[in-house]
Amino acid sequence: MQSGIPETKAMARKKTMANLHDVRHILFVMSGKGGVGKSTVTVNLAAALAQKGQKTGILDVDLHGPSIPGMLGISDRITGDDQGRMIPASCAENLSCLSVNMLLSDPDSAIIWRGPKKNSAIRQFLTETKWGALDYLVIDSPPGTGDEHLAVLDMIPDASCIMVTTPQEIALADVRKALHFVSRMEADLLGLVENMSGFICPHCGEEVQIFGSGGGEKLAQQFSIPFLSKIPIDISVERSGENGRPLVWDKTGKDSAAGKAFLDLADKIILMTESAH
Ligand code: ADP
Repeated sequence: MQSGIPETKAMARKKTMANLHDVRHILFVMSGKGGVGKSTVTVNLAAALAQKGQKTGILDVDLHGPSIPGMLGISDRITGDDQGRMIPASCAENLSCLSVNMLLSDPDSAIIWRGPKKNSAIRQFLTETKWGALDYLVIDSPPGTGDEHLAVLDMIPDASCIMVTTPQEIALADVRKALHFVSRMEADLLGLVENMSGFICPHCGEEVQIFGSGGGEKLAQQFSIPFLSKIPIDISVERSGENGRPLVWDKTGKDSAAGKAFLDLADKIILMTESAH
């Protein structure tokens, strides 16, 4: 930004587009509610894409609850290049990540920012990060439809949104609001992922619908949007988040029902995004 001249939305958008020129697809992962597994889906989807040979970056714009570094087992601070651009941390082959938590000297401290400050931080992430050539940039957002979502969709109007929900009505009610937001923003909606969709008891093998079942699929039909995946409740998903190792990094995780669901989701997204090009 030139000194003294406030940056307009159009200027910031132009800078974002120039900076992300070598990024082929941008996925924006959203949810109506917190705790439905949005960050879990972001990390495991990104790791699955990377395993399939797709160069993938994760940008965590969940400024108040940045859980991505923990889920990837990284505690790196952000480094910069000689032009002052931020360099994402490399997490695995084909996988890099940038999160606001990597800017904090104490990772347990809280960000206390109002809207304009958040907007400007996200603009900086989008315009001053050296992502290089990527097949996918997967952006994790906070729950709901706040400043962070407006900032991202204002700067990247052609991002493809992925909505994550759990099957029960209390979550779906908030998803409907988030879907209306996406439509108001005239953003592209790739589809809906139903997470925590059934639990297979490891002892007796019986499937228990802890949060009900099929709610996400029905909602997708109602809104005429693609239904992308059903991901079961699986202890290995929770453990992988706690251990900072996405499911697909380990053979047992890859072979689990949830691991297979994430790999299938990655295949579907590659197919959908490539055919749209
Ligand atoms: P959100 O980003 O929507 O707030 P998180 O991704 O942080 O939600 O997930 C909330 C908690 O639920 C985490 O402890 C995570 O490990 C767990 N979790 C998410 N998806 C699953 C799943 N499919 N099976 C088991 N645990 C899950």
